[in-house]
Amino acid sequence: MTDVKVHVEKVNKSYGSNHVLRDISLDIKNGEVVVMIGPSGSGKSTFLRMLNQLETPDSGTIVVDGFDISNSETDINKVRENIGMVFQNFNLFNNYSVLENIMLAPVELGKLNKTEAEKLGRELLDTVGLADKADANVKSLSGGQKQRVAIARSLAMQPDILLFDEPTSALDPEMVGDVLDVMKDLAKQGITMIVVTHEMGFAKQVADRVVFFESGKIQESGAPDQIFSAPKNDRLREFLGKVM
Ligand code: ADP
Ligand code: MG
Repeated sequence: MTDVKVHVEKVNKSYGSNHVLRDISLDIKNGEVVVMIGPSGSGKSTFLRMLNQLETPDSGTIVVDGFDISNSETDINKVRENIGMVFQNFNLFNNYSVLENIMLAPVELGKLNKTEAEKLGRELLDTVGLADKADANVKSLSGGQKQRVAIARSLAMQPDILLFDEPTSALDPEMVGDVLDVMKDLAKQGITMIVVTHEMGFAKQVADRVVFFESGKIQESGAPDQIFSAPKNDRLREFLGKVM
């Protein structure tokens, strides 16, 4: 096994005449926490979605966990089982209980039996601070609680890569901290994380590396100290001036 978890090389993607990813290359190491920042429309979500083939590149190479997912013959379902994704809008099943939401994927995919899935589900709910909500209906939860359930659900597949696309952007401000705290704990546990966020405090505190996207390009990347204290790229400086 190599230490490289995600290898992206010269990836391009267009929607019609809109060239949204331009020669993107990036390697992410096992256990690394990479935070992606950049203005709206710069291609961050498209990039993230490519890592589990929710989008396919027009050209270039994407290797995840040793699988070349830019090759259409690769069994993407095998790769996806190892990649959790957490979205801005939770994407939970509103008609199921909290615990049922968490148990669903591992049971359906035959990874765990029901007893095992329930045990793990309750442990994960404890981890995200929602042990008492196992039997609650998802509909009754606050946004912050829903997002913590969504994180627990993605962890139920025991992934080794977690992708987060603006996980706190849809939350009321007072809920953001609880979700970020859960993500900070995960980062400490050594899971590979790729996080798109506008939470610069989180990026500073938790990221091993910050990647700045703008106009479909990685304009600059580096350790958080460098990115926030000594940005080199003009567009990055301008962006930071607006968001900080
Ligand atoms: P970000 O996440 O940084 O805000 P996106 O990756 O969502 O950026 O979008 C990058 C560009 O691609 C935008 O111009 C957006 O309108 C366009 N885009 C994204 N998804 C699609 C799609 N499915 N079809 C057409 N255009 C899209
Ligand atoms: Mg986006």
